[in-house]
Amino acid sequence: MKKVLIKKKDLPSFFSQLIVRYRIFAPVEKNGLFWFRPIENFTEIALDFSNSTMPPKALFFQQTETLLTFKKQSSSSIKIEIPAEKNKMAILFGIRPCDAKSIELLDTIFLKDDEDPYYRSKRKNTLLVGLSCIRPSLSCFCTSLGGGPANTDGLDILFTDIDESFFVEGINEKGITFIKEFIEFFTPATEEDNKKRESVAMHAQKMITRRMTAENTEKTLDKIFESSYWEKNAQRCIGCGICTFLCPTCHCFDIHDETNAASDHGARIRVWDSCMYPEYTKQASGYNPRPTRMNRLRNRVYHKFNYIPKNHQVFGCVGCGRCIDNCPMAIDIIDIVNNAQEVQS
Ligand code: SF4
Ligand code: SF4
Repeated sequence: MKKVLIKKKDLPSFFSQLIVRYRIFAPVEKNGLFWFRPIENFTEIALDFSNSTMPPKALFFQQTETLLTFKKQSSSSIKIEIPAEKNKMAILFGIRPCDAKSIELLDTIFLKDDEDPYYRSKRKNTLLVGLSCIRPSLSCFCTSLGGGPANTDGLDILFTDIDESFFVEGINEKGITFIKEFIEFFTPATEEDNKKRESVAMHAQKMITRRMTAENTEKTLDKIFESSYWEKNAQRCIGCGICTFLCPTCHCFDIHDETNAASDHGARIRVWDSCMYPEYTKQASGYNPRPTRMNRLRNRVYHKFNYIPKNHQVFGCVGCGRCIDNCPMAIDIIDIVNNAQEVQS
């Protein structure tokens, strides 16, 4: 690991150099909400946020993505075109440690299980530059799930705000190479800088007050699948799907061909889907194995805390708190998991 400092006053010129060589995606504020957007200038970046409204997963696994286009050439042939990959390297700057951890899980799903070429082309060309949390939100609980405000899992580089400067850590070879590429902007970090970084991380960690008792959840859930507990929890759910669309680890999608009868061309589109919608599991016969909101809410909790842990030995939740902050019916996944421990099988 390489540890260096960059002065805050040098960031505008640092970014003016980066933008020449890389496509930059960074948090941008709009009407009090924060989104990762392509930026052309350092002044567009907003760094005073707890976490972005939408997780940066959307840069690799787009909400709507054209997989291919097709055009009728003759009565017996169709021309198919696949969108070209963007070759210029990208930097995702300012990603929070919980979201970086979620990308580790998405890498497992999209790159290890079955390789997804659309995800791979964007992911392999992107450097993940994290930003330690200094002001976690009231709903954050990453520390209950193996994360932390300055956790480096999934990152290539981590920036931590230590007053006049950022403490910069090259986490892996990719990150260290990047630091060397722009070495004129960095100075070596001292032991005192290191202590400041630890103190910032410790302070942020103490601000995280919500806790999830997740350790035994996998086994607990095995015992209470048929419990009325799920019916009770699902009573308030209106099936809006917000919890899934804003979740950094949710990755379900639907694919359909769009054209119209009068047209000789069209496109195959992939769009995010949500397991909280009744159509999600509806089969062509009309049968639906998850016909009620109880079935769907229960599935969401099991997916995060039972199925993914069984299949991949990690939780399917990184504790970002977005589903808690944004559920219109105040359904709280921490309470659901914690209270499940008390349910009798
Ligand atoms: S955000 Fe809340 S109300 Fe909407 S689907 Fe999720 S749990 Fe149900
Ligand atoms: S389940 Fe909720 S808290 Fe966990 S990662 Fe998804 S949005 Fe964040």
